[in-house]
Amino acid sequence: MFTKILIANRGEIACRVIKTARKMGILTVAVYSDADADSLHVNMADEAIHIGGSPSRESYLLSEKVIEAAKRTGAQAIHPGYGFLSENAEFCRMCSKEGITFIGPPVAAIEAMGSKSAAKNIMEKAQVPLVPGYHGDDQSEAVIKKAADDMGYPVLLKATAGGGGKGMRQVWHENEFAEGFAAAKREAKSSFGDDRMLVEKYLTQPRHVEIQVFCDNHQNAVYLFERDCSVQRRHQKVIEEAPAFSMSEELRTQMGESAIKSAQAIGYQGAGTVEFLLDVDGSFYFMEMNTRLQVEHPVTELITGQDLVEWQLRVAAGEILPKAQHELKINGHAFEARIYAEDPNNDFLPATGKLDFLQPPVESEFVRVDTGVRQGDEVSVFYDPMIAKLIVWDESREKALQRLAKALSEYRISGVTTNIDFLYNLATCAPFVNADIDTSFIEKNQAIIFHDNEQSLAGELPMAALYLVLSQAQQAQAKAAKTNDPFSPWNMTNAWRLNEANIHHIVLAHNGTEYPIIVEQKRQGSGSYYLISVDGQTVDCQGRIENETLYASIDGYRSHATIAKNANQISLFHQNGVFNFIHILPDCGDNSADDNHGGLVAPMNGTMVSVLIKAGDNVVANQPLMIMEAMKMEHTIRAPSNGVVDALYYKDGDMVDGGAELIAFTAEEA
Ligand code: ADP
Repeated sequence: MFTKILIANRGEIACRVIKTARKMGILTVAVYSDADADSLHVNMADEAIHIGGSPSRESYLLSEKVIEAAKRTGAQAIHPGYGFLSENAEFCRMCSKEGITFIGPPVAAIEAMGSKSAAKNIMEKAQVPLVPGYHGDDQSEAVIKKAADDMGYPVLLKATAGGGGKGMRQVWHENEFAEGFAAAKREAKSSFGDDRMLVEKYLTQPRHVEIQVFCDNHQNAVYLFERDCSVQRRHQKVIEEAPAFSMSEELRTQMGESAIKSAQAIGYQGAGTVEFLLDVDGSFYFMEMNTRLQVEHPVTELITGQDLVEWQLRVAAGEILPKAQHELKINGHAFEARIYAEDPNNDFLPATGKLDFLQPPVESEFVRVDTGVRQGDEVSVFYDPMIAKLIVWDESREKALQRLAKALSEYRISGVTTNIDFLYNLATCAPFVNADIDTSFIEKNQAIIFHDNEQSLAGELPMAALYLVLSQAQQAQAKAAKTNDPFSPWNMTNAWRLNEANIHHIVLAHNGTEYPIIVEQKRQGSGSYYLISVDGQTVDCQGRIENETLYASIDGYRSHATIAKNANQISLFHQNGVFNFIHILPDCGDNSADDNHGGLVAPMNGTMVSVLIKAGDNVVANQPLMIMEAMKMEHTIRAPSNGVVDALYYKDGDMVDGGAELIAFTAEEA
């Protein structure tokens, strides 16, 4: 076994690998960029080497620097994590030239999966099922169209060099073929410099089911069952689970064995994932093989009880696989939710900022948090804005899902916008609970997840108001308990008044709408109940707060909600989803002032896709100015106010560093 390894990565995956190495008594070397000088992974490693500037192409993507760091520290092997250099065949080749073990597959296996049509050819020979289609060398439009006509529409055109959903077009009718073909080719040419196409049957309701495989250098191969990753937004996974729901043992074995065949067809070694599309009729088709550890590997770890990083290290060191197929069993059910600094209500725009407050749920045998950040750390513009992976386990899907909802409701972050609310709404919505899931889940259930058809807040507004008056009463009691005369009438909180009703006026805003609420507190024995009126409707409420949970009875209907209060924002995590209210304070001045300054810097690292204006243009507030692409998504940069564009610093196709000034802009005088 190695005595020292280098981790050519950052963030949660670097920390994850260090944990296992430590457990195995292996020393670790971290590498870091300027922006990561004080980061958690650097702190956790035994040694750390600075390899360059903050943008990843000046540090984490520099093969030479990483290899130099390994040589300097005497690390015998490099774990690449995922992303960065993990699927870079050239890097893998350089490692072996230097006598450093690359903890991953052989160069040839990485290269074999590089082109979609070449990969398909290999899989076809190995008799792995492929989506019906054409992936031949003859690229004439007539040949490809004939293949589409023969199999019937809809079809999907894909760039053979593709990735990240680029160069892909659905074609629904024969007469749309020419247009779709031209568009897909254009996009492929500009994204990959290669416009070769393949065509396949477009499945309208597929699931994304992937198999974790492991091979050693002694001809052994096993599969560690499947993960369902159908819940995606623009081909990015959001919540993953293992095992997949409604899988028969027979299908599981068939898919597992196919995955092993795929891996063996390319002489695979180490951890890999074979991705399949699973159709409604139970047919499954090879999509691609990821030749590295996946982000979502922890769900497999929780249902199998295995440490996949330990397996990787053992295999890379030449050992045989720790377990044979018959020794692997599925135990219970696991979910992973990816906690991101991003704004789901603004097209999932990555968010940046300082994690002023960070309190993850308490870890236990049911809850695991894989993270690379601490309270006070910065989510910078330079890297993927993932804050953590929240992984939960329990005996059944139903119970694990309850764990997920609870853990999400306990995840407290302030300082940056996160997707926690979105994840909570997703995890608690009926179609997800009922596993009515395919790859278009988010699109199809948009209205429920985003609360689009704004349901009445008839239950939630009184709950939020009740929470406010109860917490005020609690604070008053706590204060009274500290005084010399805790029983003074001035310290009572039970609605005792001379000749007068005890009435509170509260204003709560939800999604920009303000709701005036009247709360009348009434005595009942030694306690109180409340008459809460919103929009002329009055309900009778009682409740108590315990450990940040509000137990409420509204007109006799009892329910509870976890409450997170942050300054004047109240988040109510309820069975119907999460509801965010702003408590509008009467004497705090204008809360609604629109803060429109700044914003003409790149929100993240990316590529300029399209500049929509010229220097000298007059623009109006909110007008789209530029479209940038990062992390497989397009983001529109808009004018912060009316004004003039003085100068443009980027053109189409330019790489842009996060934080870079994009245009010079003069706002119109108000
Ligand atoms: P890329 O490499 O560009 O990400 P993939 O081939 O991996 O492209 O496909 C990405 C996603 O597109 C899949 O996860 C799936 O949701 C969808 N997809 C791919 N092929 C098909 C198909 N034949 N029918 C329906 N959906 C598909």
